[in-house]
Amino acid sequence: GLRVVIVGGVAAGASAAARARRLDESARITVVERGPDVSFANCGLPYHVGGEIADRSRLAVHTPESLSALLDIEVLTHTEVTKIDRKRKVLEVRGVKTNSCRELAYDRLILAPGALPLRPPLPGVGDPRVFTLRNLQDMDRIKAAVERAESALVIGGGFIGLEMAEQLRRTACAVTLVEAFDQVLPPLDPEIAAPVAQELRAAGVALVLGDPIAGFAEDSGRLTAELKSGRRVQADFAVLAIGVRPESELAAAAGLELGARGAIKVDRFMRTSDPDIYAAGDVVESFDRLTGTPMNLPLGGPANRQGRVIADHIFRPETARPYPGHLGTAVVRVFDLVAGTTGWSEKRLRDAGRAYRATVVTDHQHAGYFPGATPLTVKLLWSPEDGKLLGAQVVGADGVDKRLDVLAAALAGGLTIDDLAELELAYAPPFGSARDVVNTAGFAAQNVRDGLVRTVDSPPEGYAVLDVRPVEAVTTSPVPGAVNIPYAELRSRLGELDRGRSWLAVCALGKTSYFAARVLTQAGFEVVGLAGGLRVRPQAT
Ligand code: FAD
Repeated sequence: GLRVVIVGGVAAGASAAARARRLDESARITVVERGPDVSFANCGLPYHVGGEIADRSRLAVHTPESLSALLDIEVLTHTEVTKIDRKRKVLEVRGVKTNSCRELAYDRLILAPGALPLRPPLPGVGDPRVFTLRNLQDMDRIKAAVERAESALVIGGGFIGLEMAEQLRRTACAVTLVEAFDQVLPPLDPEIAAPVAQELRAAGVALVLGDPIAGFAEDSGRLTAELKSGRRVQADFAVLAIGVRPESELAAAAGLELGARGAIKVDRFMRTSDPDIYAAGDVVESFDRLTGTPMNLPLGGPANRQGRVIADHIFRPETARPYPGHLGTAVVRVFDLVAGTTGWSEKRLRDAGRAYRATVVTDHQHAGYFPGATPLTVKLLWSPEDGKLLGAQVVGADGVDKRLDVLAAALAGGLTIDDLAELELAYAPPFGSARDVVNTAGFAAQNVRDGLVRTVDSPPEGYAVLDVRPVEAVTTSPVPGAVNIPYAELRSRLGELDRGRSWLAVCALGKTSYFAARVLTQAGFEVVGLAGGLRVRPQAT
């Protein structure tokens, strides 16, 4: 049988091994893993720190022995691949504990070494109380630190940083979260990330935004983080979660082609520049599914699916399907809120100079009259040329993952806003509405595309503001300088509005202001609506 050696035994590596075995009983498969564990649940690590996953052994999906037995493969743990001799098709491997080296021959090599947490060379970054989180051993160290700590600092407000902040808050620790950008979840647009920041604060996390970490120091025995602004934050320990970089040194030393961020370049069948060497997971530069441009995406789903693509291409090339590229679908729970994204954000579209339209709607996740109804905000980014979906973001307390997955599937299928308006989705009062929020988002985008309403993200210069919310809402949070006419009274009070002026209609969620804009437009007024409403754009007025 073919000798297949896999470097890295976790997400991409283990899935390549499993699929390879299912396709070929005669293959000689070896998984080489530097650490003690294979096939463990990296994504579950934060949840053991906070105790939500109480039993540590649940995170070891397989032991080296069980994986070896299940797949009839050789599993070498505590073993590092230190060199690839591409000419002889031989690897140099080193026992991490024994420090002895030997050679291992391959016919096909699969590189799945993953990515390393970033640890920039800042002053004091080597302090033993500054942790990163990648594997079970890192997790154990953080958990041990939690036992002795009263306060923790999380550096980085991305997905892993937020999960850590949430889980550390479940312990007795006071938690401070520091993020360099002026919003949490930098891949998301600010109005979708803003409720997440609010949720963190409400849950007692001290949030510092727009202030990058500059270094660490020691102050009377306590770890002190120094931020760029000069601000100092003390804690008993810190978790650095500011991103990862591909662990591609082995590939680079072997002369394999790398992409811009140092990730290994691969083709659609995950082949590197050497046809006998494949690569998958956090270490590769694949491509964006919508544009075909190079893209490194360190997420678990892509890693697993890419591992499978490789095994298919090695053992059943006649039926192997190419990797279709990344959408960048990601979701996170932060206390009682969930936020997620798929495809392109508005920020990214704007920076790339691409034509787009943004539509934001807020509605209940299920029938409003059914107990437990909570608001859900959906943002669509779509192409003004053909109405095709370019990206979507969702935030809310419940039902976020379902909408996000529908929208990710819509994106993969090349659906348009018209398709979203027409999707027939599962409905009974506990689950959805007769017009689901995804349908509503499609309707709202259609209204804009059809010219029924013009919406803006911020007040245009010189526009007068018409607030159509009910009196109670206006009383508790008035919009300065606005004319207040509740929507229900609008038709009878049109005479109070100056016809010589242009009007911006605002409401809480962007729906009533749309209704108002329709009334005003048909009455001959010049009017625009505030997209998404004051709830997502509190700064707009
Ligand atoms: P890894 O899973 O990192 O595996 C690579 C392995 O290769 C490592 O064990 C390493 O020891 C080994 N290795 C490296 N070099 C060598 C060598 N030279 N010789 C031998 N072995 C070597 N993704 C999501 O989609 N959703 C989530 O919720 C999510 N949560 C996460 C939470 C945390 C805390 C972390 C750390 C990651 C999370 N991810 C999540 C990302 C996801 O875990 C990764 O995208 C995925 O594990 C990548 O798989 P991989 O096989 O490329 O690399």
